[in-house]
Amino acid sequence: MSKVYNFSAGPCILPQEVIKKAADAVLNFNNLNLSLIEISHRSKDFVEVMENARALVKELLNVPDGYQVLFLQGGASLGFYMSALNFMKKENGSAAYINTGVWASKAIKEAKRLGDINVIASSEDKNFSYIPTDYTVPTDVDYLHYTSNNTIYGTQFQELPKAEVPVICDMSSDIFSREINVADFALIYAGAQKNMGPAGTTLYIVKEELLGKTGRDIPTMLDFTTHIKKDSMFNTPPVFPIYVSMLTLEWLKNLGGVSVIEKINNQKAALLYNEIDRNSLFKGVAEKDSRSKMNVTFVLTNEALQPQFDEMWQAANISGIKGHRSVGGYRASIYNAMPIESVQVLVDVMKEFEQKYA
Ligand SMILES: *Cc1c(COP(=O)(O)O)cnc(C)c1O
Repeated sequence: MSKVYNFSAGPCILPQEVIKKAADAVLNFNNLNLSLIEISHRSKDFVEVMENARALVKELLNVPDGYQVLFLQGGASLGFYMSALNFMKKENGSAAYINTGVWASKAIKEAKRLGDINVIASSEDKNFSYIPTDYTVPTDVDYLHYTSNNTIYGTQFQELPKAEVPVICDMSSDIFSREINVADFALIYAGAQKNMGPAGTTLYIVKEELLGKTGRDIPTMLDFTTHIKKDSMFNTPPVFPIYVSMLTLEWLKNLGGVSVIEKINNQKAALLYNEIDRNSLFKGVAEKDSRSKMNVTFVLTNEALQPQFDEMWQAANISGIKGHRSVGGYRASIYNAMPIESVQVLVDVMKEFEQKYA
């Protein structure tokens, strides 16, 4: 098999060793002569997986006491509604949102079903190409919500906003990519398929003491306390995505943890952005001070050369760099599992393209 350099935005690249171990476990898990996906989720072997996955999250992110780690279903898209449902008061509920793109807008849409939403800042005026900085968080809202990394536009909060009110963050596309202070948050949520595992599970890290205060009758499955009481096993959990997430977190731990991957991620992003800025045939989409280290968006300075560039990167076995339809151009997603050598392959193609066509 010839190597394919996978720059897909999601579901996305996972470490090769994780995919191999996952494949083995589907055939024969823990030498049980049974598949991981056909054993009881209540069996000792799977309960260990769940416990290990939750413990690794706590260890890698230094999750303080008082927080619970859950692996649930429904994607981050259910997280939009579930976060509002568990944190917005029934009487005169209100929340502040920062609108930095498609995912943030979807979160706003769901929260509006439950209360008064104050969009305190938005970058919609420039097609979400920057992270707004000029805003104040009201102190009389139930919480602040924002999206730390905007997967589609390639923007990322360089500094994570703090507030006096509880802070809720959708970290789907940059969780475990850089160090964070969990204590600054009431709730962090992230779909697994951007930086952790296959689609099918969503990670929630929630501050327990803040739950149960909305005065709402929350449906059982959408209530975080249901899942906390049952150690994230209230109903059948998505065993395969949780297992693979656990393997990825083990891989990250063996590498040295989040501080180590953060340095590598910085190097990868610098390599690619330097080339975009240097190369006369490319231009970055996001404003420089808002650039994402996970999703790098760029366009050609001469759109007429698109067929030539597309042919070159495809010939180099590069996959998944077509931009999202709402931005156009190109998007190279360089998540944790992408080695710097693969980023170099793309940079080399960009250089070769310039030599041929500039
Ligand atoms: C992909 C993505 C989502 C949606 O996740 P699903 O698991 O597909 O619901 C939400 N937020 C961000 C930032 C994303 O990148």
